[in-house]
Amino acid sequence: MSTIATHDRCSSGAQTGIGTLKHVAALAAQPPHELKPAWREPLARHTSVRVGGPADLLLRVRSRDALRLVAAEAFARDLPFRVIGDGTNVIAADAGIRGLVIRNHGGEHGLCADGVTVWADAGCSLIGTARWTAGLGLSGLEGAATIPGTVGGAVVNNAGAYGWTAADSVTRIRVLDGHGERWIGVQEMRYGYRTSIVKQRPGWAVVLGAEMRLTRGDGASILAAMRERLAARQRTQPTAPSSGSVFRNPPGMSAWQLIDEAGLRGRECGGAHVSRKHANFIINGGGATAHDVAALIDEIEETVRSRLRVTLQREVEFIGAWEAARPQEHGTN
Ligand SMILES: Cc1cc2nc3c(=O)[nH]c(=O)nc-3n(C[C@H](O)[C@H](O)[C@H](O)COP(=O)(O)OP(=O)(O)OC[C@H]3O[C@@H](n4cnc5c(N)ncnc54)[C@H](O)[C@@H]3O)c2cc1C
Repeated sequence: MSTIATHDRCSSGAQTGIGTLKHVAALAAQPPHELKPAWREPLARHTSVRVGGPADLLLRVRSRDALRLVAAEAFARDLPFRVIGDGTNVIAADAGIRGLVIRNHGGEHGLCADGVTVWADAGCSLIGTARWTAGLGLSGLEGAATIPGTVGGAVVNNAGAYGWTAADSVTRIRVLDGHGERWIGVQEMRYGYRTSIVKQRPGWAVVLGAEMRLTRGDGASILAAMRERLAARQRTQPTAPSSGSVFRNPPGMSAWQLIDEAGLRGRECGGAHVSRKHANFIINGGGATAHDVAALIDEIEETVRSRLRVTLQREVEFIGAWEAARPQEHGTN
């Protein structure tokens, strides 16, 4: 039986007052941010795998101030909401997401007075931020320079590649919760493999930005290392719409090898298929639904478990009203 989790303040179970949504939309539409509300906005437009039904209301924020304003209002009014960055690690339900989705992309970064610590707003591109640090001659984000998505998504997910994880560089995180804004340290983030307390408890806090401590290095060599890793990724991973690696690598094993050994490379379900280039990627070949992707994930889990006696753990996150589509399997939360 599949166990798709929907732990967010947005779920089909939440009672979302339309009046409250309209109030937040009207507030966000005022100067200086003048955000345009997108009602019943398909999440497929905001996730890299391009599946997902409508959010009741989606507000696209492009700065830390706009993120702060909208999220603070949602907290104050107890409005169900979820922040997403570039949606590169989430699979949104075909039934969509009830409540407010804050799509956060855009922000600023800066160098602190010590010359080795940098600040980045949550909406900054992680790759863009890494390249910018290389330009400053700062080393530390070489692995980050290949990971799609925002700084906020990376900080929440403890994203990682090529031996680097966000927790290696982040020194403190600026968060907003129901009580206001504050810094938290990495201890409080409770980092683990591709997880943090913010990921485990969606709706608990919004990440506004992060400070990262780097080291001095040679700009040209840092850029060369970034290019080398990018080229390696392009050789081994598909570029078609996906959510990246679907499963974590079990200790001492590669998820893609297990999927391959189970005979699932190229396996199709509706418009989704297991990538032939990298078997841990599920591709939306055009017209896939979230249900197609989820059904393929279920099939991979079941087949790898029964044929190879290995239980795969998901790296991608299911968000939204999944229980509406699969009432027997998933309760509301
Ligand atoms: C082709 C491809 C390759 C990938 N390769 C890698 C890889 O090598 N390593 C890796 O770790 N990942 C990889 N990923 C997955 C993904 O890129 C990372 O997890 C990334 O850090 C997610 O960032 P995002 O902005 O897209 O976050 P989203 O997917 O939008 O969100 C991820 C989670 O963070 C939460 N969130 C986002 N922003 C905030 C915020 N400001 N405040 C509070 N919560 C927030 C969301 O609610 C969600 O729970 C890959 C994905 C793709 C498509």
